[in-house]
Amino acid sequence: MRRPLVAGNWKMNGTLTAVEALTKGIVDGLGTEEGAAEAVVCPPFVYLETVSMLLRGTGVSLGAQTVSEHERGAYTGEVSVGMLADFGCRYVIVGHSERRELYGETDAVVAEKYWRVQSAGMVPILCVGETLAEREAGETEAVVARQVDAVIDRAGADSLSHGVIAYEPVWAIGTGRNASPRQANAVHEFIRDRVCALVPANADDMRIVYGGSVKSSNCEALFAMPEIDGGLIGGASLDPDEFLEILRAAV
Ligand code: PEP
Repeated sequence: MRRPLVAGNWKMNGTLTAVEALTKGIVDGLGTEEGAAEAVVCPPFVYLETVSMLLRGTGVSLGAQTVSEHERGAYTGEVSVGMLADFGCRYVIVGHSERRELYGETDAVVAEKYWRVQSAGMVPILCVGETLAEREAGETEAVVARQVDAVIDRAGADSLSHGVIAYEPVWAIGTGRNASPRQANAVHEFIRDRVCALVPANADDMRIVYGGSVKSSNCEALFAMPEIDGGLIGGASLDPDEFLEILRAAV
């Protein structure tokens, strides 16, 4: 049985005051509730310590939005896995489409980050997904397979069963246009089958969440699909009530 996961990717939003209020809103809203789904929040790096302290003793896990592929050294502006571990991060998003598109992260770089996160004892959330042009050209499966295979090549197929994959069609991120539950489920099924062919014993445990304009009004239909194990939430995760509603819908 896979425990659903709902992760909020706060991106480069907020001020110290706003981030404190958002974290408190989530924590206070949850109280001592042991929800069916695991909750994760991924604040900007500079707020990790603040959020980490506010999350202490709660059921909400801390995540980061990216990490360096290097262990340490002369990489100005970068943050290492060891630094994230120091702040109690349990999850790290790798390969978000914004990192791939805006910062030129290749499949190989993303795979290196994935491997490094896992080697440091944290759980990578690997984002994969096609652009609109790729979907229209019928290349969705080929793109997703290429992105997943890069990680298999670097970290081994077994590594995927201990990580989380977020299927995030690029055309659905921040656009208000989400993949239909059937479209998303089909890609999730494709990913699980691909991993299952390599590590049949563990592929069933691998959580595959969906991301792309998920909100309280569309999450129930998405989460009702058998292959959708929760969500990676961008815009809607900036509102504590909305985030909590999405979290409670993931069962
Ligand atoms: C994301 O950036 O991971 C995301 C899913 O964003 P949004 O929910 O805003 O589409």
